Amino acid sequence: MKILGIETSCDETAASVVELLESSRTSNQSTQTSAVRGAAEEAQRTVQSGTESEHRKSATKHSAVSSTRVAGSASKQGATVCRLLSNVVASSMDLHKKYGGVVPEIAARSHIEAINPVIEQALYQAKYGQGFGHNSGVASSASQQAVTADGLWDDIDAIAVTYGAGLGGSLLIGVLAARTLAILHNKPLYACNHVEGHVYANFLTETPLKGYSLPSSQPQFPLLALIVSGGHTQLVLFRDHFDYEILGRTQDDAIGEAFDKVAKIIGLPYPGGPSVAKEAAKGDPDKYTLPKAKLQGRFDFSFSGLKTAVLRLAQAECGVDYDFPSYKLPEKLSEAQKADIAASFQRVAVETVVDKTVATFESYRPKSVVIAGGVAANQELRHQLEHRLSEAIAQQSDGKQTEVARILHYTDIKLCTDNAAMIAALGSFKMKLKQPTADPYSLDIAPNLSM
Ligand code: ATP
Ligand code: FE
Repeated sequence: MKILGIETSCDETAASVVELLESSRTSNQSTQTSAVRGAAEEAQRTVQSGTESEHRKSATKHSAVSSTRVAGSASKQGATVCRLLSNVVASSMDLHKKYGGVVPEIAARSHIEAINPVIEQALYQAKYGQGFGHNSGVASSASQQAVTADGLWDDIDAIAVTYGAGLGGSLLIGVLAARTLAILHNKPLYACNHVEGHVYANFLTETPLKGYSLPSSQPQFPLLALIVSGGHTQLVLFRDHFDYEILGRTQDDAIGEAFDKVAKIIGLPYPGGPSVAKEAAKGDPDKYTLPKAKLQGRFDFSFSGLKTAVLRLAQAECGVDYDFPSYKLPEKLSEAQKADIAASFQRVAVETVVDKTVATFESYRPKSVVIAGGVAANQELRHQLEHRLSEAIAQQSDGKQTEVARILHYTDIKLCTDNAAMIAALGSFKMKLKQPTADPYSLDIAPNLSM
């Protein structure tokens, strides 16, 4: 089955097509299992046979579009392959840079301009290959109607869209586009949680697209997800698809937010995560001692103290008082001081999440650990977690030694930050496992949605 994913929760307008296949097929043949094909056909029948009001009724009945438990046997581990057929992301980041953060109104306006060309490009790429479509991120708006053109939609079995969490004005554009296209092309619609989507980026295992490095196998359940993004830091145990429990979460700032704020303190460009990581590579991670928060909840996090400690450190290094304007700090710091602050902060931030993840791993012994969200792109985090998990595995007393590479999953850096491939991947499992569809006539946005 092929799913079109649409994601517009923040400043990226993204569309992608993902195909869910049986893994026992030969490498370049795509035979769907009857179960997978059956699910697509059944959902399609529901849409085709139902009158509008029946359709509405059944969708409303199931309108609890968030996570729902499915029978344990419904998901056969490792029995499926998720192929990334196209991945188009148009970012309006350049327009926000001068403000040091995303401006919601600018993001929403950019989505309006980009949404149709981006979807069109994703459909073209999926059907005709990477060479097709527009080359630039924001495709030209010349063919606004092509997105509805016949042919491009023939193979698409369903549409998946992010309906929360995110910026209201941004989510609205993606959701309205998805609703309109679902009605126009008579396709089932799946409403997806953005943060769940980040986890499902790790289920993509194959692609004909150039320039991607994907894991060779899908993670297995029980699965421990370390979700580290701009708005979230949490440890979630998935017993199966759509059956999960949040074990710990941040009590204040998210780790990505802390990277962004530290970048601002030392004068690095937005978004802060990649800038701090680059700067840290030049510095001494042991130069400064910074605090790790101690919390009641064993698997909870806190980053606001670390962020304030970095501010105090920068002020102390510059020899200025607490009321010195923080925007003037960067010009007082030397290049070496900036690099050492970035490296010391990154070490402590990464150690904090790694400590908790390893402790959770030791308590719950999941079959897989995945890193999800924008901060999963951080190389230091990947290396430290790999190293510490291999130590934990070596100490396991069950006599079965498993290689860390079989347990720890992370995906291509391009799929860590916001994209629609993760939404299409999540949507494909929703369809396969017969999760409720959303009503294309009434699906609303949920800016404050949580997992
Ligand atoms: P959420 O997914 O929680 O709603 P978001 O969508 O805004 O938030 P993401 O796009 O998932 O966040 O991730 C963006 C965050 O990841 C930013 O805070 C950014 O600084 C951080 N980030 C990106 N690359 C790196 C990196 N290499 N090292 C550390 N942080 C990074
Ligand atoms: Fe995100």
